[in-house]
Amino acid sequence: MAKNKKMKKYDVLIVGGGMVGASLACALAAKTSLSIGVIEAKKLPQKTKAGDLSQHFNPSYDERSTALSLGSCRYLDTIGLWQSLQQHVEKIHHIHVSEQGKFGVTRLEKEEEGVEFLGAVVENAWLGVVLGAAMAAHSSISLHSPALLESLHPGDEGYHVCIEENGQSEKIQCGLLVVADGANSTCCKMLSIAQTQEDYDQTALVTNLTPKNPHQNIAYERFTRTGPMALLPLRDERLALVLTLPTEELEHYQAMSDSEFMHAVDQAIGGRCGGFSKVGKRVSYPLRLIRAEQQIIPGCVVIGNAAHSLHPIAGQGFNLSLRDVAILTEEIMDATDKKTALGNFSVLQRYIERRDLDQRATIQFSDKLQKLFTANVPGLGIARSAGLTVFDSWPTGKRALARQAMGLMAGVSTF
Ligand SMILES: Cc1cc2nc3c(=O)[nH]c(=O)nc-3n(C[C@H](O)[C@H](O)[C@H](O)COP(=O)(O)OP(=O)(O)OC[C@H]3O[C@@H](n4cnc5c(N)ncnc54)[C@H](O)[C@@H]3O)c2cc1C
Repeated sequence: MAKNKKMKKYDVLIVGGGMVGASLACALAAKTSLSIGVIEAKKLPQKTKAGDLSQHFNPSYDERSTALSLGSCRYLDTIGLWQSLQQHVEKIHHIHVSEQGKFGVTRLEKEEEGVEFLGAVVENAWLGVVLGAAMAAHSSISLHSPALLESLHPGDEGYHVCIEENGQSEKIQCGLLVVADGANSTCCKMLSIAQTQEDYDQTALVTNLTPKNPHQNIAYERFTRTGPMALLPLRDERLALVLTLPTEELEHYQAMSDSEFMHAVDQAIGGRCGGFSKVGKRVSYPLRLIRAEQQIIPGCVVIGNAAHSLHPIAGQGFNLSLRDVAILTEEIMDATDKKTALGNFSVLQRYIERRDLDQRATIQFSDKLQKLFTANVPGLGIARSAGLTVFDSWPTGKRALARQAMGLMAGVSTF
């Protein structure tokens, strides 16, 4: 039988301790002295001894990975996460963009951009270990996990939330409610915030592979017959594959033997990796563009996949959300200095005004890029190849693309 306990109070309550909710919790803990509550449906790791983290991680063939832009790597450093993260990331030194069966190629090089690396690739499992350990280590963060959200109601300031944790009901009051519970957001439904969905009729097939040739820190973005494909360098001479397919072709690719599948990927990448010797389990993700119709209401802000879930073609979803986290943290710090209530609508309005341009540009970039390279219009293939070739010899355009890929275009002072 559920027992009622005393009401807990937090300055900021984050619902969803995934990649984005956890990053915001760590950013606020690193930069403010506010009390932060995190409610996460899945069990999160509890306290881990410093230096012990690698024991909780096995590099694998069955994990999804995330390409972090250089701007994201720098931001993760400012909030104290990069030192642990970099133990298992692989840096990107070159980006190679091409189209299957066409002549055009664009190459981005770290030397040309004058940076130590263009970005880095981290397995989501390792990112989860590092974020979980950092949240557990910060005394200002209280973790409620596994915990289920039962109800939420606006209060005089912020929100009143009811959760169930360990079979007991808990009441929580907060100055600012942050919704970070993913694309299929229960919180948005509870708050009557509509999420618009556009189905791409495409599925991302994800796995890890060992190439026969060393990967040389090259990230490949390749536009193939079935849709865009990314091959990203991972530690231990592995590559992370994201292959976009029309959903009706998924079954065919799932039914292939490992050797047939490795051969198909080798053909799609034009033999650039020298073939493959090992492949992991293939996991699929249906692709949709999801957007919350409102990202702010008094006392509450929606972030991460709950606010905008993008096509993974350009590896921008988490990078965009980290830029949101950076600016939201700045606005919360500013409100704290001015003794303004954190849930005050003017605070949230300033946040969204500062984020609007970057969000719109990044969503459009990912959406239009995938439409451009999946459209089957006569003559368009030749135009695309010519475009890639011209782009390769056009320093200004290349530099703009590189800055977008590195996450340095957003006009975000923190990055
Ligand atoms: C195939 C693929 C490849 C990608 N590659 C890249 C890339 O290379 N670079 C990049 O920047 N981005 C990439 N992305 C995007 C990136 O994965 C997302 O931006 C990121 O996962 C969003 O994280 P999130 O925390 O908002 O959501 P989620 O990861 O969905 O986390 C939501 C959390 O909320 C919890 N939750 C849900 N409901 C409740 C509830 N009611 N109460 C409490 N907790 C709840 C869940 O358990 C979960 O932990 C890729 C996406 C895909 C699909």
